[in-house]
Amino acid sequence: MNTDVLVVGAGPTGLTLGIDLARRGVDALVVERDGTLFPGSRGKGFQPRTMEVFDDLGVLDAIRAAGGTYPVGMIWRGGRRAGEHRMFEPLPASEETPYTEPWMVPQWRTQEILRDRLEELGGKVAFGREVVGVLQDANGVTAHLASGGTVHARYAVAADGGRSAVRRALGVGMTGETVDPRPMLVADVRIDGLDRDNWHFFPAEEAGGRLALCPLAGTEDFQLTAELPEGTEVDLTLDGIRKVVADRTHLAAQDVTEVRWASDFRPRAALADRFRVGRVFLAGDAAHVHSPAGGQGLNTSVQDAYNLGWKLGAVLTGGARIALLDSYEEERRPVAARMLGVSTGVHRGEVRRGKETQQLALGYPESSLTAETRTAPAGAVRAGDRAPDGRVDGVRLFDAFRGPHWTLLALGTEAPDERLGAVRVVRGREHGAYGKGVFLVRPDGYIGWAAETADGLTEYLVRIGLR
Ligand SMILES: Cc1cc2nc3c(=O)[nH]c(=O)nc-3n(C[C@H](O)[C@H](O)[C@H](O)COP(=O)(O)OP(=O)(O)OC[C@H]3O[C@@H](n4cnc5c(N)ncnc54)[C@H](O)[C@@H]3O)c2cc1C
Repeated sequence: MNTDVLVVGAGPTGLTLGIDLARRGVDALVVERDGTLFPGSRGKGFQPRTMEVFDDLGVLDAIRAAGGTYPVGMIWRGGRRAGEHRMFEPLPASEETPYTEPWMVPQWRTQEILRDRLEELGGKVAFGREVVGVLQDANGVTAHLASGGTVHARYAVAADGGRSAVRRALGVGMTGETVDPRPMLVADVRIDGLDRDNWHFFPAEEAGGRLALCPLAGTEDFQLTAELPEGTEVDLTLDGIRKVVADRTHLAAQDVTEVRWASDFRPRAALADRFRVGRVFLAGDAAHVHSPAGGQGLNTSVQDAYNLGWKLGAVLTGGARIALLDSYEEERRPVAARMLGVSTGVHRGEVRRGKETQQLALGYPESSLTAETRTAPAGAVRAGDRAPDGRVDGVRLFDAFRGPHWTLLALGTEAPDERLGAVRVVRGREHGAYGKGVFLVRPDGYIGWAAETADGLTEYLVRIGLR
């Protein structure tokens, strides 16, 4: 089998990348070891920045229809409601930042939505294909499948999760630490006798470790998470889970009527030593594993794919120079390192959920793709920042950005007359956080180049290989 990009793993990372490549007309193949998509609710929280990415990828409406806002926490003590707990400081939405609230969708549902979008764009997942080995030379990558076949590709992406077989085959190490030595139980359960308006928390002092039950919007399930004492052999059967619930809450064992999915893990924080080896890239959990606290793992993973997709597309179908691909590790590894610090900090109670966890302030100011030539006033957006939304002479910027192209904003200044190829041009008055100037917005919604006039734009486009 031959393809331009082999994506190994149909988790959120692989599916997002598959969508981004499909909409760019790149020949890509997503292979998945299992026979079906992952069945559990695992990563259920989307940060506002990821909602913006979903808007661009055309899945936001489906994600919104499938989920809900985070329920207000209810703390239980001795079988009584002892007080409410808000997970986040509410931050008001604005024209520049339309999504500020995290959104909850069970991971299995998210993956169905992403898979449906991939198929709508003409892509598909090949299930039951496990990659067991990867070899590469100057021209391409050959992946060996457990079934005996091979796939030849110009590039490959390891989106095969925290235990990544591809990462191991490449010999890339993970550096990190155990965030918590206690095993965590996570399960999707049906429960009688508990309202679905609250995320129910049963504090540690009640019985040797925290337990929480979170109603999952759009389903009849709760996501159960429980810390277990160090060294515990985790029992994932219905009886085992009933016992944990009965020991730690006011509920009776029989109130747990069904276990739909169950798993256990030890929270770890680890970062791959490299995000690229030759023609193979590491993305998502294959490149970084987080504590689930703070909801950063899946979000960082989706954004890895979003950063890599346009670069592979530009090189394979847009004639950009191969050197553009160097910026993937340069941009994403520092972000992943920072978000790992945030996840571990939230887990240990040292970092509060809020601005830091929303991922809206992340950017690439130090990237070799970033060029800022103005002395912009304090508070104004700079090259490398996320390009804010807004309405410029009747055009909503997120509408203008939506799609695989670059966008040039000429605000309060002349736009260049020359043809800019596939770059969409929006002209208007000086506007909001942008102020006055010329801004070239990358396909992934970050400002690549900012200047007072269009002088130097052609040189920038040549430098990044777009001309
Ligand atoms: C309890 C819990 C709660 C969480 N909550 C959040 C949250 O609220 N917010 C958040 O951002 N994150 C959260 N996460 C983290 C999130 O689930 C992960 O970051 C996310 O699943 C990573 O996606 P991925 O596609 O990189 O990897 P995965 O989801 O692990 O997908 C990898 C895929 O690759 C396949 N595969 C593996 N090996 C091979 C192979 N050799 N060949 C072919 N296919 C292969 C696997 O079958 C799988 O389908 C949570 C995690 C847990 C455990």
